[in-house]
Amino acid sequence: MKNLIAVCLLFSALNLFSQAKPESKLSCSYDELTAPDFVKAVERSSGVCLLPMGILEKHGPHLPLGTDIFECRKVALTAAEQEYCVVFPTYFAGQINEARHQPGTIAYSPELIWKILQETCEELSRNGLKKIIIVNGHGGNNDFLRYFCMSQLHSQKDYVLVFFQPNDTPEVAKKIESLRQTKTGGHADEKETSMMRFIRSDLVKTELAGTQSGQNQKRLAEVPFQYTGIWWYAQYPNHYAGDATKSSVELGKVVVESQAEQLAQLIKTLKNNNKIESLQNQFYKDSANPLNTKQ
Ligand SMILES: [Zn+2]
Repeated sequence: MKNLIAVCLLFSALNLFSQAKPESKLSCSYDELTAPDFVKAVERSSGVCLLPMGILEKHGPHLPLGTDIFECRKVALTAAEQEYCVVFPTYFAGQINEARHQPGTIAYSPELIWKILQETCEELSRNGLKKIIIVNGHGGNNDFLRYFCMSQLHSQKDYVLVFFQPNDTPEVAKKIESLRQTKTGGHADEKETSMMRFIRSDLVKTELAGTQSGQNQKRLAEVPFQYTGIWWYAQYPNHYAGDATKSSVELGKVVVESQAEQLAQLIKTLKNNNKIESLQNQFYKDSANPLNTKQ
């Protein structure tokens, strides 16, 4: 009996000791968390989750297929380190039909990219992550994502979906302007190559940047006043827009860090603010009885 009491005392002392240990760092990466830690992460993040969206597509002759994935994940993880929240794993189911003629493109069907994003939001919400911020790294997703966000109003949702919109401050714009050496761009260009050199310089083949043309080929200049799905292929068939023979780690650092800083501000705001949720709920209520809406 005495031995048993001694053992019990020893165990409770050990237990106290383990409780007194400083809490280990809680990862912000969803896939690195254990299930018990996930519960803590949801609490600590106030339900805010980043969904970095990249794509697998050609980026000129010199950047890796996953360039957009690397970029949005770096911005997301840098922001989450400044303002804690959960960061969803690598996601690349987006709109990229225009690059199907290039090697390495994974272009899922429109139905599938819609469904997988919708169900991902619903699954995040079911797990307590009810404030979802899309951090988009791929220009070809922009129109899809805006429409997807609007579509959330079609039926009641128990989460809010926010599309991060970075916007260079005059100070940052001036700094970028002073560092940039080229005027044209848009894809795998000087800016994007600089970002990749800052994030993963080992994957950038700068010496190949001049081996293909990134100039706008204006192959639809003869058809005015229109928008057509083939526009990008008409202008940039090499899936390269700009001139990446010039790039710098410094420019990439400014772009990544300024975006991360703005994203951290958005995370912080959403943690303590329920304005979107309350407006959304009022809207769902009003839209169930539009004739009762004051005229
Ligand atoms: Zn890109």
